[in-house]
This record gives sequence, C-alpha cells and structure tokens, in this order.
Amino acid sequence: MLLRFLGAAGTVTGSRYLLTHGDASLLIDCGLFQGVKNVRSRNWKPFPVDAAGISAVVLTHAHLDHSGYLPRLMREGFAGPVWSTSATRELVDILLEDSAHLQEEDARHINRRGYSRHQPAEPLYTSAEARAVMKQFRSTGFDEPVSIGPFVVTFRAAGHILGASSVRIECAGQSITFSGDVGRPNDPVMNAPAPLLDTDWLVVESTYGDRLHPDTDPAAMLADIVSRTAVRGGTVMLPSFAVGRAQALMYLLSRLMDERRIPVLPVFLDSPMAIDVTGVFRHFHTEHRLSAEDCERMRDAVTFTRSPEDSQALADNRYPKVIIAGAGMLNGGRILHQLIAFGGDSRNTVVIAGYQAEGTRGDALLKGARSLRIFGRDVPINCEVARVDGLSAHADYREMLDWLGTLAHAPRRVFVTHGEPVAADSLRQKLEHALGWQAVVPEQGDAFDLD
Ligand SMILES: [Zn+2]
Repeated sequence: MLLRFLGAAGTVTGSRYLLTHGDASLLIDCGLFQGVKNVRSRNWKPFPVDAAGISAVVLTHAHLDHSGYLPRLMREGFAGPVWSTSATRELVDILLEDSAHLQEEDARHINRRGYSRHQPAEPLYTSAEARAVMKQFRSTGFDEPVSIGPFVVTFRAAGHILGASSVRIECAGQSITFSGDVGRPNDPVMNAPAPLLDTDWLVVESTYGDRLHPDTDPAAMLADIVSRTAVRGGTVMLPSFAVGRAQALMYLLSRLMDERRIPVLPVFLDSPMAIDVTGVFRHFHTEHRLSAEDCERMRDAVTFTRSPEDSQALADNRYPKVIIAGAGMLNGGRILHQLIAFGGDSRNTVVIAGYQAEGTRGDALLKGARSLRIFGRDVPINCEVARVDGLSAHADYREMLDWLGTLAHAPRRVFVTHGEPVAADSLRQKLEHALGWQAVVPEQGDAFDLD
C-alpha cells in the first residue's frame, strides 16, 4: 500500500489522505481548507491526483474540514461511492447545503462589488453540485465492515460529533487506522471514543497535541453566567457551532433549569442549521448519551426560531432570555443580528465557548474589544463578555495518550496530522517518550510505502 498526505499536513484543516493498492485507491476524508485566505485559496488549486481514478471516498465524520471538498472533487471527475456512517451522511447533507449556499453568496457579493480578477466570480461549488454528491453516498454502522475493492473498511465510534469514526482499513495482509477527530472520555453529550483495534499503521490527529483542557465544569460556569444575567433582567447570547455545541448547550440549560440551578427562562435556538442537526440527534439516540427523555426535556425547554421573521422578533424582545445562534466564532450567522440588538446594553451577556480562531470577532471580544465591525458599521459592545470552557469536542494530549495506550501492540509507525506544526510535533514527541512509539509528522504531498 502507498499512503499519500494531500491535506491536514502542517495545518488543522483540509483532511485528505490517499491510500493506493495496485489500481485501487481510497481517499480518506475530502476536507475543505478553512481559515485565513492563503489557506482557503488551496481549495481552488487543481486536485493533485486524477480524481476520476479514485475508487471511493471514505469519510471519518461530517465536519467540513473533512467533507466539504466533495462537490469540487466530483467536478474534477470523481464518480465513485462515498462511504460513511448513517449519521455522518445525514449531517453532511445539512452541512454541504449550507457550505454551497455560503460559496454562492460569496461569489454574488464579489460580483456586486466588482473586485474579482475573474469575471464573473464563480462559487467553489453550487447547491446543485452539493445535492448531486449526496446521491453517491453509501452508509454502514459502527463495527460493520464493508469491502471496497481490495480494501475492508471498518468504522469505529470516535466520540467527537454524531457519526464520527476512526476508520480501520485492511488490505494485502496489513492494517491502517485513521483516527479522524477524536472526542473526549467525559463529554456531556457524546459517547467516549471506542478503544482502537490492533493496527500496523496509524494516522492520528493532533489538534490539542500540545494542550490540556482546563479542569472546569462547564455546567457550573454556565449556571453562574445565566443566573447573574437574569438578576440584571438581561439576555444571554450563546454563539455556537450547529453540530454538537448547540445540542450540548441546550442539554445543559434544560438540565440546569430542571435542577433549579438557574431561573426558568425562555431559551431560543435561533439557527435553522442547528435545528436540523438537533433532528438528526433524535434519529440516532444510541449514538450519544442523551436518553429519549433528555431529548424530550430539551425539546420542551427550547423554542426553535426557524424563520427570519421569528428571529427578528427575538431581537425586538426585551425580556430576559437565552439565545443560542450561529456562528460559533461570530464570523457570520444570526448571532450578528442579536449582537446588534443586545450588545450595547450592560445588562446582557455574550458567552464565548471554546476556541476562537485568530482574527475572528469571538477572538476580538476575548481580547477586550468594546466595539465590533458588523455589516460595515461599528457596533458598541457594552454587555458582559463571559467565557465557558470545557465544551471542546477534541481530546487533549493526555486524553489522546490514554486512548492510544489501550492498544495492545505498538503500531509500526504513527503519522501525526491535523495540527498546527507546534502541536503536531509536540504530540509526536509525547508518543515517542510516553509510549515508545515511532512517530513522524508528514508534510503536504509526502508519500510512504507501507510494506
Ligand atoms: Zn471534526
């Protein structure tokens, strides 16, 4: 087998690994490059191998940095099946539609302003292309191996988000495992990652390869913030990712109200995408920790505002309440309208949960910004800016070493990917010192003969 690193090498996004045996090849993950402009521009480069020659795509999970390049790969000639778990397939359907919509909006915006070098500017892909990809999907469950040409592929639960898997591939008497993004042992909503099966080769993510999560209780932090804002008669704004984070916040808030740890307040989920994702959670109730009862309680505690009119009505509502809205780093979405409505009043609170990329509005708020540029104007921020930690969907390095340490035999070699260079190298050193494993940090384009 030959393994090639076509993305997520030296960076956290753009996961793409090509595994070849004879004429057959699998692309494991087909992610978008996300973040600053010169990383995103890599999505526009021609795919480095003949897309038509790829036998199948195998997805570890639905996040766009693992699935968001699929429509473009099809435009480049890929025509094979896309294999994933059933939950991943449902989530990809929601996320790709949104991604295509944003690409189309961007192109329209550029054309209106007339600053494209290419006239007219084209979207990376269209909604129609995103819909066409979904027809290529084939699904299976966790621990139910499928044969794809000479490869036998097994999806193994990895926590992280709904449907997320580590993927173990057997071929020609050897095995290789791609960790995908690895979740945490004590996540409030997601199950712990399943122990890995024996493997000759291992590709492992390193998002938190140099960091430990703070030992804090997110429920207690949230309870304090909501209680003191309610005493002031204010509104709590919770910017959130649609997948995972929004559901965890809904669950924590409903539990806190049930336990009388916060006043009973109206809670609104102001994100059509997060509303759709919440529906997927109810389809796959064995794949997370929430019981049918928890889901019902959550549903009763939260009002969904799907239409723009209902969302606008929230902005006009001056009573104490909690609003969960996208986007998680305040780089778009309805949370911006809510910030315009509520950010100027010191009774209100905006809560930053988790990592905020450099240059985002969320990052600016954490650094003390008292004004934000939104839709071309400066919006004053006089509300409280609070933060809740401990809701990350990624294992930190200690959790990662504990999880990897359950393997009975050392892999022949570990490839450390999906991390900033410092984080990846830090995990490589820890694997060598703590577990005595041979580890390497591959670079973009590197190829390894697995013999
Ligand atoms: Zn992920």
